[in-house]
Amino acid sequence: MPNLKTNADLCRTCPSGACLVRCQYLDYEPAPAREEMLKIHAGQDSPVLEACVTCYACEEYCPRGNHPFYLISDRREAKGILTAPRAITRQWVHIGEPRGKFEHGTIGKRLLSCGFMPQLKALTGGELFADIMPSFVFGQEYFCNVVYIHFAKPSIILARLPEVIANYARLGVEEIVFLHDECYAAFASLAPAYGLEVPFRSVHYFEYLYGRLLELKDRIRPLGLKAAYQRPCSSRFIPSTHAYVARIMDLIGVELVPRTYQDEAALCCGSIFRAMYGYDLAADVQQRNLADIQASGAQICVFNCHGCQGALADKVARHDIRPLHMIELCRLAIGEDPATGA
Ligand code: SF4
Ligand code: SF4
Repeated sequence: MPNLKTNADLCRTCPSGACLVRCQYLDYEPAPAREEMLKIHAGQDSPVLEACVTCYACEEYCPRGNHPFYLISDRREAKGILTAPRAITRQWVHIGEPRGKFEHGTIGKRLLSCGFMPQLKALTGGELFADIMPSFVFGQEYFCNVVYIHFAKPSIILARLPEVIANYARLGVEEIVFLHDECYAAFASLAPAYGLEVPFRSVHYFEYLYGRLLELKDRIRPLGLKAAYQRPCSSRFIPSTHAYVARIMDLIGVELVPRTYQDEAALCCGSIFRAMYGYDLAADVQQRNLADIQASGAQICVFNCHGCQGALADKVARHDIRPLHMIELCRLAIGEDPATGA
């Protein structure tokens, strides 16, 4: 099994303990934060292993790239500390198993990966994807499995990911555009953190959209809308991709309204909290987030992750805030109707 590349000495000399000091769910000062991380490195018990709610944010907060959340997950699994009831964990783990029901389009040197989420595949029509489609794959055989890190099951990811990488490599592609934020994180963050080689160039769909919008610049009609953006947990593994949100909005004439819970202070959509930690935490986080979106004056709420969209779309719509996936928003900006594909 691949080993996580992390270094206890970096934590020992860390002045900030930012991973736990900035955590929105735990309360630590720098010195105790360092102590807890050193205990976790050493395989000792730590209250952090029980209390972490798997928001992923410490992966972004650590200024030394020392992978605090991957480490917490590894140690939890080694100690048999489950984050969700066993039956729920098993049910989720089955969802990502290869089924032999994958779909291939006409595979070229560039490929669009839809994971195995039909919602993502449904977004691939129109001019934005005309230069890459029909070169696509869909199915569990091409799914990252990273969601299992919420369940303290990194071993499932590390057992399946090499096969997923091999499935992609067999296609002979040079570049893969990932529509699933977390799949991109698998190849750009998690695989390198565990020393797994990735034999293709991974591209986040935000980067792809931005480039494509530049190519289609003559067709852009500035939308003149005020937007709140719901940042997903997986974005914490790949924080450099977050910069594309502001760049894309700027390009299509959408104003990102200031919010309390945005950028590094973003709040989870609550869906995974409901599955794992019950109603109270999910309700508290969702209510604070929704009140913040409402107070911001946003006319639209833009989603990156279909899971976040499933959790919050109806709730924002009840407050006359239109939910839109980032791809739908970009299609609107070039004069397409995302509902019909026309
Ligand atoms: S994980 Fe990063 S932020 Fe946390 S103590 Fe170690 S070096 Fe510091
Ligand atoms: S994953 Fe989130 S809840 Fe867990 S320690 Fe890191 S910042 Fe805190």
